[in-house]
Amino acid sequence: MMQVQLAQGQASSVAPLLAVRDVSVVFGGIVALNGVSFDMHKGKILGLIGPNGAGKTTLFNCLSRLYQPSKGDILLEGESILTRPAHKIAEIGIGRTFQNVALFPNLSVLDNVRVGTHAKTSSDIISDSLKLRKVRRTEAEINERVHEILGYLNLHDVAHTIVAGLPFGTQKRVELARALAAQPKILLLDEPAGGLNHEEVHVLGDVIRRIRDDRDVTVLLVEHHMGLVMSIADHVVALNFGKKLAEGTPAQVQADPDVIKAYLGSKDQ
Ligand code: ATP
Repeated sequence: MMQVQLAQGQASSVAPLLAVRDVSVVFGGIVALNGVSFDMHKGKILGLIGPNGAGKTTLFNCLSRLYQPSKGDILLEGESILTRPAHKIAEIGIGRTFQNVALFPNLSVLDNVRVGTHAKTSSDIISDSLKLRKVRRTEAEINERVHEILGYLNLHDVAHTIVAGLPFGTQKRVELARALAAQPKILLLDEPAGGLNHEEVHVLGDVIRRIRDDRDVTVLLVEHHMGLVMSIADHVVALNFGKKLAEGTPAQVQADPDVIKAYLGSKDQ
């Protein structure tokens, strides 16, 4: 009994990296999210699941600041992110990828990844021209970072290829590389397995796990592919009809009767 109390106390004393607190989103008369709360802990992969219409995308869009919650708060390292505009979230350490890939199709892989570094470099033309040496150093650092990430995600061979001509799976990897180039604390992945074949999903799972382990990045994974979520997530939150249905380890959530019922009653399997 003593041990159990100690373990619980220890778990709750660790401050979360990101805290979702009682978040609700209402569109007209539709309650898309209804008082959802959970924590994301540093260096972990959190899987966010739920049947169609459960509220996953709405929550993802709140985290990436595309939507403003009607109620509640989202705290990164104890500070609300809700005062930040969407285009500033990379600066505070939140990176994201898009369900259908949002790259610059006519730029090379290298240039697309280079765009990602922009969030971490404060350059303005006048001060830069006055500090040429500093600019050259920054430029060298950016190049180094871009090449390191291209190597890390096995994209060196296609570095100078125009993105539009690449297979979808490779484009998804480029998007991941671009998000990593901003050196995020949290990476938000919106259905990264969508459109990938079995082998590609397997590789993706390994890549996401490596990113967590090697780069100390905390990951939120919104995903319909149950096999992927259950094999790589440290913690799973299940939503249904805008509410949190269950949370826990993948095994706990998978065995939860309410989760099973929600999935059996939906078209998702
Ligand atoms: P899916 O797995 O199908 O993508 P989801 O879990 O991501 O579903 P959401 O897209 O967040 O679910 O939708 C939650 C609810 O909010 C649904 O009832 C949806 O119809 C509604 N909704 C989402 N976005 C809007 C919007 N922009 N305007 C009005 N209603 C919306």
